[in-house]
This record gives sequence, structure tokens and C-alpha cells, in this order.
Amino acid sequence: MKAMVLNQIGSLEENKTPLELADLPDPVPGEKEILVKVSACGVCHTELDEIEGRTPPPRLPVILGHQVVGRVEETGSKTSTFKIGDRVGIGWIYSACGKCRFCLEGNENLCKDFKATGRDANGGYAQYMTVLEDFAYRIPDVFSDLEAAPLLCAGAIGYRSLRLTGLKDGQNLGLTGFGASAHLVLKMARHKYPNAKVFVFARNPKERAFSRELGAVWAGDTEEESPEKLDCIIDTTPVWKPVVEALKSLEPGGRLVINAIRKEEVDKEYLLRLDYPTHLWLEKEIKTVANVARNDVREFLGLAAEIRIKPEVQEFALEEANRALVELKTRKIRGAKVLRID
Ligand SMILES: [Zn+2]
Ligand SMILES: [Zn+2]
Repeated sequence: MKAMVLNQIGSLEENKTPLELADLPDPVPGEKEILVKVSACGVCHTELDEIEGRTPPPRLPVILGHQVVGRVEETGSKTSTFKIGDRVGIGWIYSACGKCRFCLEGNENLCKDFKATGRDANGGYAQYMTVLEDFAYRIPDVFSDLEAAPLLCAGAIGYRSLRLTGLKDGQNLGLTGFGASAHLVLKMARHKYPNAKVFVFARNPKERAFSRELGAVWAGDTEEESPEKLDCIIDTTPVWKPVVEALKSLEPGGRLVINAIRKEEVDKEYLLRLDYPTHLWLEKEIKTVANVARNDVREFLGLAAEIRIKPEVQEFALEEANRALVELKTRKIRGAKVLRID
């Protein structure tokens, strides 16, 4: 099979083609696994974190990609959920132990044996991949393969972060950063909490305009203060300044949820501007959202179908994965990048 393979960790600025096209043997499914013929795979910011070593794969070479849509090509001898030809999706959670406290309570994203698709196991930048059938999801018919792919990560983790904020209808939600995940959160919030007001902080005027189009009541630059205090905030940026700046708009007792697998170090000094009375005093909380549990993916896919969330998609061929990654890092074009794989 054709695959785009990561052989080496390094800065994308120094090496703009970190992935190499390779011809590999087709993977063979284990007894509880399915073999999936991949048709679409989303390109995620987390891949940049893997390539640049902020969340490095434990073994190289590895095939990246964790927003995978395809069809079941073969089923292991002990599978029962899917049949050949079924359309399935695979997200960031590749497997977990199934026995620990976290797994048993449905927070298998926190399991110490959590394995990530396209990092700890080969992912979807390839014609085929295998996965345990319990870690694959049916995709609602309303979505095309390309539309469904970005929902599997940005959407599902956005759903989990919205859940972790504890937002109630009628309250104010802030979003700092307005990329793929945040724009899906805005749509979800407007549907689930029709009386909640959404305020957006983004440094890019185009993103601010886009958020207003989607129903944000206010959009300002990163360091501005929102015109009303916010009950909760979700941060989806890779850096620190937006966190510090957003905290001043947070209500007493409010919660800021950081949705980022790793923060870049470039502006870490900004944390020294944290002023306890302004940013943290009065029981303000900071929480992170880690990965996704399977229920987040399932519930989000159902919700997305119900409200017809259709991400805007920018399409690339598998062989163009490097270009997609560089554009993701350097150019802010709205819409989710997806590889089409034949
Ligand atoms: Zn992702
Ligand atoms: Zn576990």
C-alpha cells in the first residue's frame, strides 16, 4: 500500500517535507480488528506536534493521521460489529486497557495505556489501516467521507471540551482561538444552548469575521476584554498569551478549559504576566481536556448529524500531505484540511 511515513522528528521550518511516500505491505487485522480501506484522512495540528517532537511517536517510522474514514475491507475472526463494506471512522483514541478505573467509568482517554492513532500505532495517511473494531465508529449517512474526517478529531474533542466547561443555557461562553475545533464548538453551543452568548478572541480579523457570521455576539483581538464577563472559556490556541489574556474576562468561579495537547514554548514568558487578583482570584479554574473517549466521538457524530454540522473542507491528495502540513502551520486558511486517498 501507499503511505506517507514519518521517519524523523524535526522542525517543519527546517524540513518542509518530513513525510516520505513509501510502499509498504498491507496491514493484516488481528482477531478483534478490522482492516479499513481509507478514503479520507484529516490533517490535524497534533501531527505538527508529533513531527516537531512535542508529542513524539514512541517508535519510528510511523504513519500519522487520526481522523480516518474508510470502508471495512476485512474482519478479524472474533469481530461481530461490522461487516465488509461498512463505512467506519477512527479517531485519536486507538485503544485503552479496558480494565482500569478510568476505562470502567468511560474516561478511557485518561487510561495510562491510552494509545493514540497515528502516533502509538499506524494511522490514516495510508491506503489501509487496522484497528480494534470496538474503537471504530459508524458514520452518519448525511456526511460524505471528506466531510466526516475532520469531525472525528476537532469535532469530538470540541464536544468534550464544551462538556467539561459545564456551560449552561443562558450563560456566556468565550472561545480564544478560532480554528477548526472552535468553529465546530460555536455551532454546537448555538444548537445545544440557544440562549448562551458566544464571545470570540482571535488575532486574525478573518477569523473574527467568520465567527460573527456563525453567530458570535462579539469578536475581538486576543488581548481585548470581552464586553460581558464569561462563565467559561475554551482555549484552542497553541500558545500562552491567549490563556493569560482571556482569564481577565472570566467570571468569578468561572472555568477556562485548555484544549491543546501541548503548548509551544515560544511565548512561555507571557505566563509571568499572570496577575493573581486579575486573572485567578475569586475561584477561577483552569482545566485541560485530554484526548477523547469513545462516547465523545459517538455522541458528537450524532449531534453533528442532527444539526447538520458540515465542516468546510480543503482537499489534498495523499502525496500532498507535506504541503497540507506546512499550510496548516504557516497559513491561516479557513476550513479543515483533508487528504483524499484512493
Ligand atoms: Zn487531531
Ligand atoms: Zn484503562
